[in-house]
Amino acid sequence: MTPRPHPVKALGLCSGGLDSTLAGLLLRRQGIDVTWIAFETPFFSARKARQAARRYDVPLRVEPITDVYLPMLRNPKCGYGKYMNPCLDCHTLMFRLAAEVMAAEGFHFLFSGEVLGQRPMSQTAQSLRYVEKNSGCEGYVLRPLSARRMPETIPEQQGWVDREQLLDFSGRSRKPQMALAAELGVTDYPAPAGGCLLTDKGFSARLRDLFAHRGDPSENELHLLRFGRHFRLSETGKLVVGRTKGENETLEHYRDPDRDMVLKVADHPGPLGLLSQAADRQTQLLAATIVAGYSKAPELTPVTVAVTTPDGPQTLQVIGLPPRDVRRFLI
Ligand code: SF4
Repeated sequence: MTPRPHPVKALGLCSGGLDSTLAGLLLRRQGIDVTWIAFETPFFSARKARQAARRYDVPLRVEPITDVYLPMLRNPKCGYGKYMNPCLDCHTLMFRLAAEVMAAEGFHFLFSGEVLGQRPMSQTAQSLRYVEKNSGCEGYVLRPLSARRMPETIPEQQGWVDREQLLDFSGRSRKPQMALAAELGVTDYPAPAGGCLLTDKGFSARLRDLFAHRGDPSENELHLLRFGRHFRLSETGKLVVGRTKGENETLEHYRDPDRDMVLKVADHPGPLGLLSQAADRQTQLLAATIVAGYSKAPELTPVTVAVTTPDGPQTLQVIGLPPRDVRRFLI
């Protein structure tokens, strides 16, 4: 056994949810120097982790990982969950990235708030083992909330962590976590689950469509999947129509001025439409009729749609198609 380092430094994956918060505070209670790490992509953010870090005064580092996340998301070794969520490979990637930080910055081990058996797919003993093995940090991942139901990890064997002070939670009940929260003074925490768009049915359908039509989507295109109504009009033509003033502004914000056209009815209030420039003339006309159909222009009346293209302004004359007639194009 090597002498106990001073301080013992642990790096924990943090979602900002109750379990990861408790795991961090439990280790801190036994004198371990705890830091959290959280990852960001267009599919999940570190917002809750930031809140938890501020509230409990735990140092947090946030890593944007879209570039390494996308190749995994396109082809996850263990496949997807119910929607586009590749939970096992996502966890594996996060632990691998955390292990790189651990090695580079002198942390002694990793930890997470996972509870054995809490989630049917990603938190079985087998899944936890898979993640650990495939992320290159075997033996160095401690799950403080369930540790006493699991084989001893290296930090426990080495005496860096007192196993007696770790817990034996398992299963789906939240009662033990709530009791521990009260004991540790954790009073305000977000509801479990939620927060990952890859588990959302509508978002997943739009993402699948994007992957099917774009070899290398930009980060802005991924962000855009969260906003507006999305219509697949042709192989190269996708239209996004804002539903509110705020969404119209967001579409403008994420628009690629070298790639996207903006469509707007000229003389009546109405939404903004975003169409890829690669769309052919027929698709542009269809997009204009859809945008006109969502405007306040009277039905069956010719309207002018102003189009801002990367090559300059244009106008199209169309008659709006009512929303009920364009549902078949909705993604
Ligand atoms: S829910 Fe989302 S963030 Fe969480 S493991 Fe699954 S894919 Fe990753």
